[in-house]
Amino acid sequence: MRHRIGVMGGTFNPIHHGHLVAASEVAHRFDLQRVIFTPTGVPWHKAPLGLASAEDRYLMAVIATASDPRFEVSRVDIDREGPTYTVDTLRDLQAQFAEESPADTVDWFFITGADALADIVGWRDPDGILARAHLVGVTRPGHRLSNPGLPSDAATLVEVPALAISSTDIRERIHAGAPIDYLVPGGVALWIDKHDLYR
Ligand code: ATP
Ligand code: MG
Repeated sequence: MRHRIGVMGGTFNPIHHGHLVAASEVAHRFDLQRVIFTPTGVPWHKAPLGLASAEDRYLMAVIATASDPRFEVSRVDIDREGPTYTVDTLRDLQAQFAEESPADTVDWFFITGADALADIVGWRDPDGILARAHLVGVTRPGHRLSNPGLPSDAATLVEVPALAISSTDIRERIHAGAPIDYLVPGGVALWIDKHDLYR
């Protein structure tokens, strides 16, 4: 059997409706059966200040995706020591899949922000990434879609419905006592409250 699987990497600190809308839109556009969210271990591009634990970020992602049969969350990045590199994420997921379903083949799609995509030359082993997955850069309508300078068959840019939601803004809102209702799934807001995150 042939599968089409998306991988959405991120810090997910915390996961929010922007992530979920982007994953849903890309799944629709690329006819993906599954999207695997992979919360980072120690993020290599961000200072850990204000970073919730890997376990909290993983569990919030599980809560946020629980009701969608297309979505799942993988521990590959949080269980690996050290900083997360996309090439390792893809390699581990692909090895896991090959072990579970050796007879099946998969077309892999790595979903990331279009701005991050432009920096791919700075990622570890860009050629290894391109050999393992088609890249999908998501952006909001109105933002200019610039060609990230990759071979045209290596990456596709996709506009997702406007959602000016970011984890940074959510953390700042919590810190300031402003509401985060409807920016994150209800269960995520309850988890943040229950565990006193981002105060
Ligand atoms: P932070 O503000 O801490 O950087 P973030 O909201 O950008 O957090 P990340 O975990 O860094 O969230 O993002 C994971 C992936 O989701 C990235 O590829 C990012 O570009 C994408 N993304 C984040 N917010 C949105 C959004 N509102 N719409 C579409 N994609 C998004
Ligand atoms: Mg970000």
